[in-house]
Parts: sequence; C-alpha cells; structure tokens
Amino acid sequence: MSKAFTGGCACGAVRYEISAEPVFMGDCQCRDCQLRSGTGHGSYLTFPGRPSVKLAGEAKHWDVAGDNGNVKTHAFCPTCGSPVYLTFSLMPDLLSVHAASLDDPGRYKPQAVTYTVRGHAWDRFDPALPKFEKMPPM
Ligand SMILES: [Zn+2]
Ligand SMILES: [Zn+2]
Repeated sequence: MSKAFTGGCACGAVRYEISAEPVFMGDCQCRDCQLRSGTGHGSYLTFPGRPSVKLAGEAKHWDVAGDNGNVKTHAFCPTCGSPVYLTFSLMPDLLSVHAASLDDPGRYKPQAVTYTVRGHAWDRFDPALPKFEKMPPM
C-alpha cells in the first residue's frame, strides 16, 4: 500500500491521516459545493472504512441535506474556517476530504465530474473526464 494520505486545514489545527486508498475521486458542481468552496466546484477524495482514518484537532460541524435525503455533515476548522472533511448519513463508513487540504494535492486524480447540471460556463474541466448531470448511477 502507498503511504498514508495526510492533510488538514489552512492553519494546521485540524489534521487527518488516512491509511487507505480512495474509492472515488471527483469534482462536484452542485450548488452546495459551490457555496462552500467559494468557486465553481468542490474536489474530493472519498475513503472507505472509518477505522483507517485518524483525526486530530477539534473540527466544528454543520449539516446539509442532499437531493436524496442523504445528510452531509461538513467538518471545518473553527479557527481558520477551512472545510476539511465530510461524512454521510446514508453511507456512515465513508469519509471524504477536500483535495486541496492534502499535504500533497498532486495525489488527487479526478475520475469524474458530478452535478454538471449546476455548472457554470466559467468552470471548465478536462474534456476526457466522464461527466454526470447529477450523481453517477450507483
Ligand atoms: Zn485551521
Ligand atoms: Zn456537490
């Protein structure tokens, strides 16, 4: 297995270390991701198995309900405000981290773009990436 995925918020108060490989990496253009990122999309690595995740520091949380009733709990640093990770009520084993919160953001390799129905003309992606109007079919 490759080395752990490590990262955290901008000020360093909230940190994570994940000793698993991501099950999915992708960009999301939904309104929720736009509002939280302050730009056209969010970029996430999603990991299986909470036991492989070590968290350090005190994150604050807030919830938002997705289209399908899935409640997404967003964790952010109360000091610097950076979004760091999120969890899902319908898939409690999964944890996603924001791509640029990685110590080495170059490890992020997007596999698809979701919610392109909400995308803006100024937010463009690699034409080779698969695109989904909403979420990909499970
Ligand atoms: Zn911080
Ligand atoms: Zn989204």
